[in-house]
Amino acid sequence: MTDLHRLSIRELSEGLSQTQFSSRELTQHYLDRIAKIDGQIQSYVTVTAEQALAQADAADAVLKAGHATALTGIPLAHKDIFCTQGIKTTAGSKMLDNFISPYDATVVAKAKAAGLVTLGKVNMDEFAMGSTSESSYFGATKNPWALDRVPGGSSGGSAAAVAADLAPFATGTDTGGSIRQPASFCGLTGLKPTYGRVSRYGMIAYASSLDQGGPMARSAEDCAYLMNIMAGHDDKDSTSVEKDVDDYVVNLNATSVKGLRIGIPKQYFNVAGLDADVKARVEESLKKLEDMGAILVEIDLTMTESYVPTYYLIAPAEASSNLSRYDGVRYGYRCENPVDLMDLYKRSRSEGFGAEVQRRILIGTYALSAGYYDAYYVKAQKVRRLIQQDFLKAFEQVDVIAAPSAPTTAYKIGADLTPVEMYLGDIYTLAVNLAGLPAINAPVGLDSQNLPVGLQLIGNYWSESQLLSIVHQYQQDTQFHTQRAAIAEETA
Ligand code: GLN
Repeated sequence: MTDLHRLSIRELSEGLSQTQFSSRELTQHYLDRIAKIDGQIQSYVTVTAEQALAQADAADAVLKAGHATALTGIPLAHKDIFCTQGIKTTAGSKMLDNFISPYDATVVAKAKAAGLVTLGKVNMDEFAMGSTSESSYFGATKNPWALDRVPGGSSGGSAAAVAADLAPFATGTDTGGSIRQPASFCGLTGLKPTYGRVSRYGMIAYASSLDQGGPMARSAEDCAYLMNIMAGHDDKDSTSVEKDVDDYVVNLNATSVKGLRIGIPKQYFNVAGLDADVKARVEESLKKLEDMGAILVEIDLTMTESYVPTYYLIAPAEASSNLSRYDGVRYGYRCENPVDLMDLYKRSRSEGFGAEVQRRILIGTYALSAGYYDAYYVKAQKVRRLIQQDFLKAFEQVDVIAAPSAPTTAYKIGADLTPVEMYLGDIYTLAVNLAGLPAINAPVGLDSQNLPVGLQLIGNYWSESQLLSIVHQYQQDTQFHTQRAAIAEETA
């Protein structure tokens, strides 16, 4: 079969259980595509061909014995931020270039237990700090829709791999938009779950009160399958919540779009820098949802101007604390011939971290320093609470809130935005993490340069099922999620 990469997760699951093809054939098919096509995209940091084929053979035995789960034998790629026992985990950094974790992240362990096959680890911005994947020590990943464009970030490798059909789906993480924005730039569906829904154990920390893992795939249905594996309480993560997990696949039709109240924040559609094509595609998608029976309600989110400054204070503050563990002593990069301990610390960190990571550590350390703590960090925490309250008030009026996922489509590689220009591009995604809410990106068409545009739907706490269901029904009625980048049409 030459077109296995076109099959949805449900079709793959059926095909495997009906022995139309084996997991080995499917896995080999993806490995062949990676070998042929990934040179142009550079989405993978590590391809684990041998282990993948061994996992595939084990999956085939399980399938034959009749003990298979819905996902047994289906391949996936993990963002290189999830620790994988015996396989390098780099977080896109020179600091961890040679790091092999002694244990699996909970998400990785759950994927293995469900019988999923790991194709490899995919590229990302260094320590998940960025919006383009260009800050990776391993070089920039290319957008499959236009090879001179970025795939977004920080989960740019996950997005590019799925958009080029080099993995059926992938894990990502989202601290301030890193699932939704690359999903938007690459024409994918990506879900950022409620904070606490997915275990952070073994997920390399960026900003711990904001970080959350989630699925990236070609459709809401495919995301639902992966979410069924990723979600759930974990004793090893004290911030993971003890709350029953929905069956996201079973619930795909459980929410009715008819009568659904969708909030349109008036501040969001007047943001300077919102591209006209993005605005038009998002408005068309809202019109479509209205035709399907949704009710559009204008709402106020008064704190919009505070999102970027609040996030870019809190996230670096937490990062500066989390990244203090990379000291050249315990693990990770160590400089050569240190003259004393201070020299070891300084040079290991100066040589091991890239420019953007160093910038964040400096900002964060400054904000947490004794004389400035109240003026910056404490103040930002107070504003964070106001942002959350703004959303809670809105959810008294509406079921979900609509926004673009990003003000533009994918940037040119090397566009050389200043840090502040880049940070402003995160305007639509940051508040969701500050408030701990779930949100989803769905592709809603292309701009005049044939680059994908994404609609973001933000839900109330624990509404992952509802978000997936709304997007699923939209995708039953529209074809945008089936549009593929030209490179995905290439055969291996
Ligand atoms: N672009 C944002 C940042 O650089 C978000 C990144 C993320 O979600 N990991 O912090």
